Amino acid sequence: MQIILAKMQREQFFEALDTVIQSPKRFAVVSHVNPDGDAIGSSLAFAQFLKKFGHEAEVMVSNDFPDFLAWMPGACNIHIYDKASETCDQILNVADVLVILDFNHSSRSGLIQETLNKLNTKKILIDHHRDTDLSQFFCALSETNVSSTSELVAEVVMHYGEQYLDESIATNLLVGIMTDTGSFSHSIYHSETLAICAKLIDKSISYNQIHQLVYDTFSEGRLRLLGYSISNKMEVLDEYATAIIALSKEELAQFNYQVGDTEGVVNFPLNMKKIRMSVLVTERQGIIRLSFRSKGNFSVHELANKYFNGGGHTNAAGGTLTCSLEKALELLHQVLPEYKEKLNQIG
Ligand code: 5GP
Ligand code: MN
Repeated sequence: MQIILAKMQREQFFEALDTVIQSPKRFAVVSHVNPDGDAIGSSLAFAQFLKKFGHEAEVMVSNDFPDFLAWMPGACNIHIYDKASETCDQILNVADVLVILDFNHSSRSGLIQETLNKLNTKKILIDHHRDTDLSQFFCALSETNVSSTSELVAEVVMHYGEQYLDESIATNLLVGIMTDTGSFSHSIYHSETLAICAKLIDKSISYNQIHQLVYDTFSEGRLRLLGYSISNKMEVLDEYATAIIALSKEELAQFNYQVGDTEGVVNFPLNMKKIRMSVLVTERQGIIRLSFRSKGNFSVHELANKYFNGGGHTNAAGGTLTCSLEKALELLHQVLPEYKEKLNQIG
């Protein structure tokens, strides 16, 4: 049944997309706040794909992306709303079509939300998050059972023909799939993901180089922060098969914190066999960010959604609180007993 629905959705999506890409248009491609490899990779690739059909396509995100993504083909042309809001608003206001990639609710667009909500422009969605309200989109390719939005964009490009897949598009999409699967260690639900990657690797710059450019770029401060987080700050709660790492503003500053430096820290506690959920709590400018990761069918999406104003996927989710770091940790400890049974289940 699910397969039939997915097939119908694709047919409808491609039929609608065909009508949009037939004649030259101005596209604004928007992705989520605190952009990651999938947000940047899928957006750049989709904009580059649109340009092949003679369209104008501008990519924008609310705030800057981490330095380890800055080398990506076309990244220097991305508009950052918190640095150039007027230009961004202008692009959004004159766009014929808005493309929403790697998020499904306007609240995830950060500072772009206000303008997005005002516009009546035709919207196209390509995304792998759950609970999408499809009614607001002209057409949508919304599937949760895929590794990443980049995988869906790869499918779109291939649908039109492999001749549209060039080195830049292939490289950007590989970054998206590689980062959203933790270098192919999770979120792989079918062999198609790897079949697509095989095609991308044939066209991209060297995969080894891509991996190195994304992952082997730590500053000394970042690596020491990782060591400190695990060695000094990791709280292991055996009773809940959970590990929590909390980092204050001062601690981040001590390691000369740069945007993206805590990326990946939350994954390490899961390396312990006994751990089912890992939570990283960081104090940012005026807010507390929480990052959740889990193994198996324990849904961090549910937890993040119910208590931490967030959500995401079964095994990776995020949330935000506007309180002190201490209060955030208090809340986290308070809600754990509700999940004790599920956290201690196998599977
Ligand atoms: P991260 O921990 O890397 O910030 O986020 C993990 C995943 O959770 C992301 O891929 C994103 O899809 C999702 N996510 C992160 N923060 C939020 C949030 O505040 N709201 C929702 N709905 N999803 C989030
Ligand atoms: Mn994603």
